[in-house]
Amino acid sequence: MKRRDFLAGLAAAGVAGCAKTEQAGDTARASAETFEWKMVTTWPANFPGLGTGAADLARMIQAASGGRIRIQVFAAPELVPAFEVFDAVSRGTADIGHGGAYYWKGKTEAAQFFAATPFGMNAQERNAWMFYGGGEELWRELYAPFNLVPAAAGNTGIQMGGWFKKEIRSLDDLQGLKMRIPGLGGDVLRRAGGTPVNLPGGEIFTALQTGSIDATEWVGPYNDLAFGLYQAASNYYYPGWHEPGTTLEAIFNRESLDALPEDLQEIVFMACRTVNGNMLAEYTARNQAALETLVRDHGVQLRRFPDDVLKRLKELSDEVMEEIAARDAMARKIYESQLAFQKQVSKWHDVSELAYYQARDLTR
Ligand code: CA
Repeated sequence: MKRRDFLAGLAAAGVAGCAKTEQAGDTARASAETFEWKMVTTWPANFPGLGTGAADLARMIQAASGGRIRIQVFAAPELVPAFEVFDAVSRGTADIGHGGAYYWKGKTEAAQFFAATPFGMNAQERNAWMFYGGGEELWRELYAPFNLVPAAAGNTGIQMGGWFKKEIRSLDDLQGLKMRIPGLGGDVLRRAGGTPVNLPGGEIFTALQTGSIDATEWVGPYNDLAFGLYQAASNYYYPGWHEPGTTLEAIFNRESLDALPEDLQEIVFMACRTVNGNMLAEYTARNQAALETLVRDHGVQLRRFPDDVLKRLKELSDEVMEEIAARDAMARKIYESQLAFQKQVSKWHDVSELAYYQARDLTR
């Protein structure tokens, strides 16, 4: 990453204003000690948005630290398989990981709430909750027993509902449906009569093409086009009720992070915040062109889930999350924090975002 790109990123994050005068003194005091870090990710190498976002994070930390932190990036499964990233960073095999919190539901069910909540907050609302609504504090509390420190480091925006070999006309079409869908959304699909499967990104296409699954969600047009999913299923559904603004995470090994001097710790978290915003901008910029390519060049059928299907999925989502909260005290704390925040922020968005979209469309 070029230096001016990084500075532009800082300016976008609103932190550039006070940097100049303090920087000179801090740089003079900065320790010359260097740190060799390993990063492991749950993404295929150089995968657009997700894999490149993780690589950007490593590059920014390295550049902004003047090379005092050097990071070697291992995509899945170069050093460890995708779903072992959490353990690898926890035990110190790697110092930093990049992935999605819902992959760790086997470690702690409550982790899922930090990736995406079905029918929950969108990207803008989740960021507000994370940074100004107590979200990141709860996340740190949840991961502390695992020797990990998490940070939001990417957001895909609202995802697509997924790729289906057969049309979804009613709830009956979900019965027996074998679908790759991680996290809470997967639990909801099970409740609706389907069979959720959790596969890392790199294994989705083959599973769908060979028929070992009937349907899959992945991210959105930009990423789904890159995987060629249209070659294996032609019905492309929206909206992504199960992932309305998915947060990607950076996780740090506690000892690796604690070993850094204060200025480098600050750089590490500023880089996370920058990637968090950049990734959402990238998806927002690129999804529509990819969607047009899918429909125009690849004959994809763009379809909206029927209202009664969405309504039932919403009811089941509430049930599933209530039950998790009932059996897990941390999940209860996180879920209630999200519910309260969503309630107030969506009221604001009724008179701001929603009212504006409606106003903008009056003459369309
Ligand atoms: Ca997804």
